[in-house]
Amino acid sequence: MSSSSSASGISPSPLAHYGWDAAWAEAFAPYETDGLLPGRVVRVDRGQCDVATAGGILRADTAFVTPHDPLRVVCTGDWVAVEPGGTPRYVRACLPRRTAFVRSTSSKRSEGQILAANVDHAIVAVSLAVELDLGRIERFLALAWESGAQPVVVLSKADLVPDAATRAHLVQDVETSAPGVPVLPVSARDGDGLDVLAAVVSGGTAVLLGQSGAGKSTLTNALLGEDVMDVQATRDMDGKGRHTTTVRNLLVLPGGGVLIDTPGLRGVGLWDAGTGVGQVFAEIEELAGDCRFHDCAHESEPGCAVRAAIDSGDLPERRLESYRKLLRENQYIVAKTDARLRAEIRKDWKRKGAMGRAAGELKRGRAR
Ligand code: GDP
Ligand code: ZN
Repeated sequence: MSSSSSASGISPSPLAHYGWDAAWAEAFAPYETDGLLPGRVVRVDRGQCDVATAGGILRADTAFVTPHDPLRVVCTGDWVAVEPGGTPRYVRACLPRRTAFVRSTSSKRSEGQILAANVDHAIVAVSLAVELDLGRIERFLALAWESGAQPVVVLSKADLVPDAATRAHLVQDVETSAPGVPVLPVSARDGDGLDVLAAVVSGGTAVLLGQSGAGKSTLTNALLGEDVMDVQATRDMDGKGRHTTTVRNLLVLPGGGVLIDTPGLRGVGLWDAGTGVGQVFAEIEELAGDCRFHDCAHESEPGCAVRAAIDSGDLPERRLESYRKLLRENQYIVAKTDARLRAEIRKDWKRKGAMGRAAGELKRGRAR
Protein backbone atom coordinates (compact mmCIF):
# COMPACT_ATOMS: atom_id res chain seq x y z
CA MET A 1 0.00 0.00 0.00
CA SER A 2 2.16 2.82 -1.13
CA SER A 3 0.14 4.53 -3.82
CA SER A 4 -0.46 7.79 -1.95
CA SER A 5 3.05 7.77 -0.43
CA SER A 6 4.77 7.91 -3.77
CA ALA A 7 6.67 11.14 -4.33
CA SER A 8 5.46 11.29 -7.91
CA GLY A 9 1.81 11.00 -7.01
CA ILE A 10 -1.47 12.68 -7.83
CA SER A 11 -0.82 15.95 -6.07
CA PRO A 12 0.02 18.96 -8.23
CA SER A 13 3.01 19.47 -5.95
CA PRO A 14 4.65 16.17 -5.07
CA LEU A 15 6.41 18.04 -2.30
CA ALA A 16 3.09 18.44 -0.50
CA HIS A 17 3.51 14.83 0.64
CA TYR A 18 6.70 15.93 2.35
CA GLY A 19 4.99 18.80 4.15
CA TRP A 20 5.50 21.62 1.66
CA ASP A 21 3.03 24.44 2.29
CA ALA A 22 2.39 28.09 1.46
CA ALA A 23 4.74 29.31 4.20
CA TRP A 24 7.61 27.19 2.89
CA ALA A 25 6.88 28.39 -0.62
CA GLU A 26 7.12 31.97 0.61
CA ALA A 27 10.41 31.29 2.40
CA PHE A 28 11.72 29.68 -0.75
CA ALA A 29 10.62 32.40 -3.19
CA PRO A 30 13.96 34.31 -3.29
CA TYR A 31 15.77 31.09 -4.25
CA GLU A 32 13.27 30.25 -6.94
CA THR A 33 14.28 33.36 -8.86
CA ASP A 34 17.87 32.06 -8.65
CA GLY A 35 16.75 28.92 -10.45
CA LEU A 36 17.22 26.66 -7.42
CA LEU A 37 14.94 23.75 -6.56
CA PRO A 38 13.10 23.33 -3.26
CA GLY A 39 13.46 20.03 -1.47
CA ARG A 40 13.41 18.29 1.88
CA VAL A 41 16.43 16.52 3.32
CA VAL A 42 15.60 12.85 3.83
CA ARG A 43 19.05 11.77 4.91
CA VAL A 44 22.44 13.27 5.75
CA ASP A 45 25.71 11.52 5.46
CA ARG A 46 29.08 13.22 6.05
CA GLY A 47 29.05 16.20 3.75
CA GLN A 48 26.34 14.83 1.51
CA CYS A 49 22.61 14.64 1.77
CA ASP A 50 19.64 13.21 -0.07
CA VAL A 51 17.00 15.76 -0.93
CA ALA A 52 13.45 14.91 -1.96
CA THR A 53 12.48 17.28 -4.77
CA ALA A 54 9.48 17.41 -7.06
CA GLY A 55 11.50 15.39 -9.57
CA GLY A 56 12.71 12.71 -7.18
CA ILE A 57 15.53 12.20 -4.70
CA LEU A 58 18.71 14.12 -5.47
CA ARG A 59 22.11 13.69 -3.88
CA ALA A 60 23.76 16.98 -2.97
CA ASP A 61 26.86 18.33 -1.32
CA THR A 62 26.41 20.40 1.85
CA ALA A 63 29.73 22.28 1.76
CA PHE A 64 27.98 25.63 1.18
CA VAL A 65 25.71 25.27 4.16
CA THR A 66 28.07 23.88 6.76
CA PRO A 67 28.76 26.65 9.25
CA HIS A 68 30.92 26.22 12.32
CA ASP A 69 27.93 26.11 14.62
CA PRO A 70 27.03 22.40 14.73
CA LEU A 71 23.42 23.31 15.43
CA ARG A 72 23.15 24.95 12.04
CA VAL A 73 24.39 21.99 10.05
CA VAL A 74 21.84 20.66 7.56
CA CYS A 75 19.92 17.74 9.00
CA THR A 76 17.08 15.38 8.18
CA GLY A 77 13.83 17.33 7.92
CA ASP A 78 15.38 20.57 6.72
CA TRP A 79 13.90 22.36 3.71
CA VAL A 80 16.67 23.46 1.38
CA ALA A 81 17.36 25.19 -1.91
CA VAL A 82 19.38 22.87 -4.11
CA GLU A 83 21.10 23.40 -7.43
CA PRO A 84 19.26 21.87 -10.39
CA GLY A 85 22.47 20.24 -11.63
CA GLY A 86 26.25 20.23 -11.41
CA THR A 87 28.95 17.86 -10.25
CA PRO A 88 28.80 18.02 -7.42
CA ARG A 89 25.37 19.51 -7.05
CA TYR A 90 25.27 21.83 -4.03
CA VAL A 91 22.70 22.68 -1.40
CA ARG A 92 22.80 26.48 -1.55
CA ALA A 93 20.61 27.42 1.40
CA CYS A 94 18.71 26.00 4.32
CA LEU A 95 15.30 27.57 5.00
CA PRO A 96 14.79 28.84 8.56
CA ARG A 97 13.67 25.99 10.81
CA ARG A 98 10.33 25.94 12.57
CA THR A 99 11.53 23.47 15.20
CA ALA A 100 14.69 21.50 15.91
CA PHE A 101 15.62 18.44 17.92
CA VAL A 102 19.03 18.76 19.48
CA ARG A 103 20.97 16.18 21.37
CA SER A 104 23.11 17.80 23.99
CA THR A 105 26.04 15.78 25.10
CA SER A 106 26.68 15.67 28.82
CA SER A 107 30.36 16.26 28.13
CA LYS A 108 31.29 19.88 28.79
CA ARG A 109 33.52 20.16 25.76
CA SER A 110 31.41 18.85 22.95
CA GLU A 111 28.62 20.80 21.33
CA GLY A 112 25.04 19.81 20.81
CA GLN A 113 24.13 17.80 17.77
CA ILE A 114 21.18 18.54 15.56
CA LEU A 115 19.06 15.43 15.03
CA ALA A 116 15.92 16.48 13.18
CA ALA A 117 14.39 19.70 11.92
CA ASN A 118 10.86 20.94 11.37
CA VAL A 119 9.16 18.34 13.53
CA ASP A 120 5.54 19.11 14.38
CA HIS A 121 4.71 16.18 16.65
CA ALA A 122 6.98 14.40 19.09
CA ILE A 123 5.34 11.07 19.85
CA VAL A 124 6.58 9.75 23.17
CA ALA A 125 6.03 6.00 23.29
CA VAL A 126 5.47 4.65 26.80
CA SER A 127 5.00 0.92 27.23
CA LEU A 128 2.06 -0.31 29.27
CA ALA A 129 3.93 -3.60 29.70
CA VAL A 130 5.86 -2.05 32.58
CA GLU A 131 4.92 0.23 35.45
CA LEU A 132 4.49 3.88 34.44
CA ASP A 133 7.47 6.06 35.28
CA LEU A 134 5.97 9.55 35.31
CA GLY A 135 9.35 11.19 35.95
CA ARG A 136 10.77 9.66 32.81
CA ILE A 137 7.72 10.67 30.79
CA GLU A 138 8.11 14.25 32.04
CA ARG A 139 11.73 14.24 30.95
CA PHE A 140 10.82 13.13 27.42
CA LEU A 141 8.07 15.73 27.34
CA ALA A 142 10.52 18.43 28.39
CA LEU A 143 12.77 17.46 25.48
CA ALA A 144 9.82 17.57 23.13
CA TRP A 145 8.68 21.01 24.31
CA GLU A 146 12.23 22.34 24.04
CA SER A 147 12.34 21.34 20.39
CA GLY A 148 9.24 23.36 19.65
CA ALA A 149 7.23 20.30 18.62
CA GLN A 150 3.88 19.39 20.14
CA PRO A 151 4.31 16.32 22.35
CA VAL A 152 1.87 13.43 22.22
CA VAL A 153 2.07 10.46 24.57
CA VAL A 154 1.26 7.05 23.14
CA LEU A 155 0.63 4.41 25.77
CA SER A 156 1.80 1.47 23.69
CA LYS A 157 0.97 -2.22 24.02
CA ALA A 158 -2.48 -1.28 25.29
CA ASP A 159 -3.61 -4.85 24.58
CA LEU A 160 -1.70 -5.81 27.73
CA VAL A 161 -4.20 -3.75 29.75
CA PRO A 162 -7.50 -5.19 28.48
CA ASP A 163 -9.56 -3.81 31.36
CA ALA A 164 -11.12 -0.54 30.16
CA ALA A 165 -11.31 1.03 33.64
CA THR A 166 -7.66 0.29 34.38
CA ARG A 167 -6.67 1.66 30.99
CA ALA A 168 -8.65 4.86 31.56
CA HIS A 169 -7.00 5.22 34.96
CA LEU A 170 -3.50 4.97 33.44
CA VAL A 171 -4.39 7.51 30.76
CA GLN A 172 -5.62 9.86 33.47
CA ASP A 173 -2.43 9.41 35.51
CA VAL A 174 -0.33 10.49 32.55
CA GLU A 175 -2.71 13.31 31.63
CA THR A 176 -2.37 14.86 35.09
CA SER A 177 1.41 15.02 34.84
CA ALA A 178 1.31 16.14 31.20
CA PRO A 179 -0.97 19.15 30.84
CA GLY A 180 -1.64 20.11 27.25
CA VAL A 181 -0.46 16.76 25.94
CA PRO A 182 -2.83 14.30 24.25
CA VAL A 183 -2.50 10.79 25.69
CA LEU A 184 -3.46 7.95 23.36
CA PRO A 185 -3.60 4.28 24.30
CA VAL A 186 -2.52 2.30 21.24
CA SER A 187 -2.02 -1.36 20.51
CA ALA A 188 0.01 -2.11 17.42
CA ARG A 189 -0.81 -5.76 18.01
CA ASP A 190 -4.59 -5.55 17.65
CA GLY A 191 -4.75 -2.17 15.92
CA ASP A 192 -6.54 -0.36 18.75
CA GLY A 193 -6.07 3.42 18.61
CA LEU A 194 -3.86 3.25 15.53
CA ASP A 195 -6.37 5.28 13.50
CA VAL A 196 -6.26 8.08 16.09
CA LEU A 197 -2.47 8.11 16.03
CA ALA A 198 -2.42 8.03 12.22
CA ALA A 199 -4.78 11.02 12.18
CA VAL A 200 -2.54 12.97 14.58
CA VAL A 201 0.64 12.37 12.59
CA SER A 202 -1.08 12.99 9.24
CA GLY A 203 -1.01 16.69 10.04
CA GLY A 204 2.72 17.23 9.66
CA THR A 205 6.07 15.77 10.56
CA ALA A 206 6.48 13.43 13.51
CA VAL A 207 9.26 11.72 15.41
CA LEU A 208 8.97 8.79 17.79
CA LEU A 209 10.81 9.01 21.08
CA GLY A 210 10.92 6.64 23.99
CA GLN A 211 12.93 4.04 25.76
CA SER A 212 14.23 1.01 23.99
CA GLY A 213 11.49 -1.62 23.95
CA ALA A 214 8.70 0.96 24.18
CA GLY A 215 7.36 -0.24 20.83
CA LYS A 216 8.66 2.49 18.50
CA SER A 217 9.69 0.19 15.64
CA THR A 218 6.41 -1.67 15.85
CA LEU A 219 4.47 1.62 15.76
CA THR A 220 6.57 2.82 12.83
CA ASN A 221 5.80 -0.33 10.89
CA ALA A 222 2.12 -0.07 11.76
CA LEU A 223 1.98 3.55 10.55
CA LEU A 224 3.79 2.63 7.37
CA GLY A 225 1.68 -0.43 6.79
CA GLU A 226 4.77 -2.35 5.80
CA ASP A 227 8.24 -3.17 6.97
CA VAL A 228 10.36 -0.06 7.54
CA MET A 229 13.48 -1.53 6.06
CA ASP A 230 11.64 -2.36 2.85
CA VAL A 231 10.37 1.18 2.63
CA GLN A 232 13.66 2.79 3.56
CA ALA A 233 15.44 0.88 0.84
CA THR A 234 13.09 2.02 -1.90
CA ARG A 235 14.68 2.62 -5.24
CA ASP A 236 14.80 6.21 -6.35
CA MET A 237 15.78 8.02 -9.49
CA ASP A 238 18.91 10.06 -9.14
CA GLY A 239 19.54 13.29 -11.03
CA LYS A 240 20.71 11.44 -14.12
CA GLY A 241 17.60 9.27 -14.32
CA ARG A 242 19.34 6.21 -12.92
CA HIS A 243 17.77 4.03 -10.29
CA THR A 244 19.59 4.11 -7.00
CA THR A 245 18.88 2.49 -3.68
CA THR A 246 18.78 4.90 -0.79
CA VAL A 247 18.18 4.61 2.89
CA ARG A 248 15.93 7.38 4.10
CA ASN A 249 15.45 8.73 7.57
CA LEU A 250 12.37 10.65 6.53
CA LEU A 251 9.41 8.61 5.41
CA VAL A 252 6.15 9.68 3.82
CA LEU A 253 3.26 7.91 5.53
CA PRO A 254 0.50 6.33 3.43
CA GLY A 255 -2.16 7.96 5.63
CA GLY A 256 -0.57 11.39 5.26
CA GLY A 257 2.22 13.03 7.18
CA VAL A 258 5.89 12.33 7.49
CA LEU A 259 7.88 10.33 10.01
CA ILE A 260 11.52 11.11 10.79
CA ASP A 261 13.49 8.20 12.18
CA THR A 262 17.19 8.94 12.57
CA PRO A 263 19.73 6.78 14.38
CA GLY A 264 20.35 9.73 16.72
CA LEU A 265 16.75 9.88 17.79
CA ARG A 266 16.79 6.14 18.20
CA GLY A 267 19.69 6.34 20.63
CA VAL A 268 17.30 6.82 23.47
CA GLY A 269 19.85 5.78 26.05
CA LEU A 270 21.31 9.24 25.57
CA TRP A 271 17.97 10.86 26.08
CA ASP A 272 17.70 8.98 29.32
CA ALA A 273 21.02 10.21 30.64
CA GLY A 274 19.67 13.22 32.50
CA THR A 275 16.39 11.64 33.47
CA GLY A 276 14.77 12.43 36.76
CA VAL A 277 17.62 13.97 38.71
CA GLY A 278 15.15 14.75 41.44
CA GLN A 279 13.95 11.17 41.59
CA VAL A 280 17.37 9.64 41.58
CA PHE A 281 18.43 11.94 44.39
CA ALA A 282 15.14 12.00 46.23
CA GLU A 283 16.80 11.88 49.67
CA ILE A 284 18.89 14.98 48.91
CA GLU A 285 15.90 16.93 47.62
CA GLU A 286 14.02 15.92 50.75
CA LEU A 287 16.86 17.07 53.03
CA ALA A 288 17.13 20.31 51.05
CA GLY A 289 13.55 21.03 52.02
CA ASP A 290 14.78 21.42 55.61
CA CYS A 291 17.60 23.85 54.78
CA ARG A 292 17.08 27.31 56.27
CA PHE A 293 17.38 29.02 52.88
CA HIS A 294 15.22 27.71 50.08
CA ASP A 295 17.98 28.41 47.54
CA CYS A 296 20.66 26.83 49.74
CA ALA A 297 23.67 25.63 47.75
CA HIS A 298 24.64 23.24 50.57
CA GLU A 299 28.12 24.69 50.77
CA SER A 300 28.62 26.79 53.88
CA GLU A 301 25.16 28.25 54.45
CA PRO A 302 23.93 28.31 58.06
CA GLY A 303 21.17 25.84 58.85
CA CYS A 304 22.00 23.55 55.92
CA ALA A 305 20.27 20.21 56.46
CA VAL A 306 22.23 18.53 53.67
CA ARG A 307 25.63 19.44 55.18
CA ALA A 308 24.32 18.34 58.57
CA ALA A 309 23.44 14.94 57.10
CA ILE A 310 26.92 14.65 55.61
CA ASP A 311 28.53 15.62 58.91
CA SER A 312 26.50 13.05 60.81
CA GLY A 313 27.38 10.39 58.24
CA ASP A 314 23.79 9.93 57.07
CA LEU A 315 24.59 11.14 53.57
CA PRO A 316 27.79 10.20 51.75
CA GLU A 317 29.61 13.29 50.44
CA ARG A 318 29.96 11.48 47.09
CA ARG A 319 26.17 11.45 46.71
CA LEU A 320 26.02 15.23 46.97
CA GLU A 321 28.85 15.56 44.46
CA SER A 322 27.17 13.41 41.83
CA TYR A 323 23.90 15.22 42.47
CA ARG A 324 25.61 18.54 41.80
CA LYS A 325 27.28 17.15 38.72
CA LEU A 326 23.99 15.96 37.28
CA LEU A 327 22.29 19.25 38.08
CA ARG A 328 25.06 21.12 36.27
CA GLU A 329 24.77 18.81 33.28
CA ASN A 330 21.04 19.22 33.28
CA GLN A 331 21.33 22.97 33.23
CA TYR A 332 23.82 22.59 30.40
CA ILE A 333 21.43 20.42 28.47
CA VAL A 334 18.61 22.91 28.71
CA ALA A 335 20.88 25.86 28.05
CA LYS A 336 21.79 24.31 24.73
CA THR A 337 18.27 24.50 23.45
CA ASP A 338 16.37 27.12 25.38
CA ALA A 339 17.20 30.57 24.10
CA ARG A 340 15.49 32.32 26.99
CA LEU A 341 17.38 30.39 29.63
CA ARG A 342 20.57 30.99 27.69
CA ALA A 343 19.91 34.72 27.81
CA GLU A 344 19.26 34.53 31.54
CA ILE A 345 22.47 32.64 32.20
CA ARG A 346 24.35 35.25 30.18
CA LYS A 347 22.73 38.04 32.18
CA ASP A 348 23.77 36.26 35.36
CA TRP A 349 27.37 36.08 34.18
CA LYS A 350 27.30 39.77 33.35
CA ARG A 351 25.83 40.61 36.74
CA LYS A 352 28.48 38.50 38.48
CA GLY A 353 31.14 40.08 36.33
CA ALA A 354 29.94 43.57 37.23
CA MET A 355 29.79 42.66 40.91
CA GLY A 356 33.29 41.24 40.72
CA ARG A 357 34.60 44.40 39.12
CA ALA A 358 32.83 46.59 41.66
CA ALA A 359 34.26 44.53 44.53
CA GLY A 360 37.72 44.79 43.01
CA GLU A 361 37.43 48.54 42.70
CA LEU A 362 36.20 48.83 46.28
CA LYS A 363 39.23 46.88 47.48
CA ARG A 364 41.51 49.09 45.50
CA GLY A 365 39.72 52.10 46.97
CA ARG A 366 38.61 53.44 43.64
CA ALA A 367 34.89 53.28 44.22
CA ARG A 368 32.96 56.51 43.90
P1 GDP B 1 11.44 -0.20 20.27
O1 GDP B 1 12.72 -0.64 20.91
O2 GDP B 1 10.88 1.00 20.97
O3 GDP B 1 11.54 0.00 18.80
O4 GDP B 1 10.37 -1.38 20.55
P2 GDP B 1 9.84 -2.54 19.56
O5 GDP B 1 8.92 -2.00 18.56
O6 GDP B 1 11.01 -3.30 19.06
O7 GDP B 1 8.98 -3.41 20.56
C1 GDP B 1 9.55 -4.02 21.71
C2 GDP B 1 8.77 -5.28 22.05
O8 GDP B 1 7.42 -4.96 22.34
C3 GDP B 1 8.72 -6.28 20.89
O9 GDP B 1 8.91 -7.56 21.42
C4 GDP B 1 7.33 -6.12 20.32
O10 GDP B 1 6.84 -7.31 19.77
C5 GDP B 1 6.52 -5.74 21.55
N1 GDP B 1 5.36 -4.92 21.17
C6 GDP B 1 5.37 -3.84 20.36
N2 GDP B 1 4.11 -3.34 20.21
C7 GDP B 1 3.30 -4.14 20.92
C8 GDP B 1 1.88 -4.16 21.15
O11 GDP B 1 1.08 -3.33 20.67
N3 GDP B 1 1.40 -5.15 21.99
C9 GDP B 1 2.23 -6.06 22.56
N4 GDP B 1 1.68 -6.97 23.36
N5 GDP B 1 3.56 -6.08 22.34
C10 GDP B 1 4.10 -5.15 21.54
ZN1 ZN C 1 21.55 23.22 52.27
